Amino acid sequence: MVGLRHAGRTVCAVLALGLIAAAGPAARGEQPAPVAAKPDLCQRAKFRVVIDVGHTIDVPGAISARGIPEYAFNLQLATQVKQDLVAAGFDEATLLITATAPWRGLFERAQRANSMHAELFIAIHHDSVPDNLLQTWQYAGQQEHYNDDYPGYAIFISNDNADRAGSLLFGRFLGKELQARGLQYTPHYTLPLMGHRRRELIDAKAGVYRYDQLIVLRETHMPAVLLEAGSIVNRQEELQLASPERRTLTSAAIVAAVGDFCAARAKPVEAKATTAVKRVNLAAPPR
Ligand SMILES: [Zn+2]
Repeated sequence: MVGLRHAGRTVCAVLALGLIAAAGPAARGEQPAPVAAKPDLCQRAKFRVVIDVGHTIDVPGAISARGIPEYAFNLQLATQVKQDLVAAGFDEATLLITATAPWRGLFERAQRANSMHAELFIAIHHDSVPDNLLQTWQYAGQQEHYNDDYPGYAIFISNDNADRAGSLLFGRFLGKELQARGLQYTPHYTLPLMGHRRRELIDAKAGVYRYDQLIVLRETHMPAVLLEAGSIVNRQEELQLASPERRTLTSAAIVAAVGDFCAARAKPVEAKATTAVKRVNLAAPPR
């Protein structure tokens, strides 16, 4: 009991120190300033976020444990995310759907986001496992494939993206918001059994992996992440992912993370003007 109480006091002290440090010198020795003290300069109505529906109706990605194509899950979740973003004031949120098959279709997605001058790109997917890790079962009279070992979301960014720091920042916000709603990421991409699909975990708290080669992440000119919202080959998680409750939870996390990111990236108008002048000066030829 003594140990626990001591530990509790230590945690409180650390938290209090953190709050004082975050509040800045003026607040030291006084009451901690509220966290929301910084004004939110995000202009939601102008912030262009693209929600990319992974795969196409003809090449629909993974097949769930009950035989449903991934594309159906992606379309349903992405549609809700778009609607929830607009409801939250992100009027410029755009759903990106293409019927063009890969590889051309993947480049087309990035090009469309680039031509829109989007400020954030989020690809919506649902996860499976490599074929050698799948088992078979009978469902509704059909032989289907499943793997119950690796439930959870996963977030991917590419180091080759034009704004790698922005991609990682959004990935971290997204992981934090998903976890705040009780969801957990899957750590299985780090396992040797994943073979060439093994990935480097670059944020072990938020669940952000590095996947440089993903075309939609490396060809986009704006911060970009790919979200695997959960495993549809996991027989239990598939049922959750198909439910309105889970979609609402994931969508709320995405909307909150977009809000976090927009606020973090927003600058006062004066600061933007100064940056523009500096750029012009740098671009001028030496005399
Ligand atoms: Zn996919």
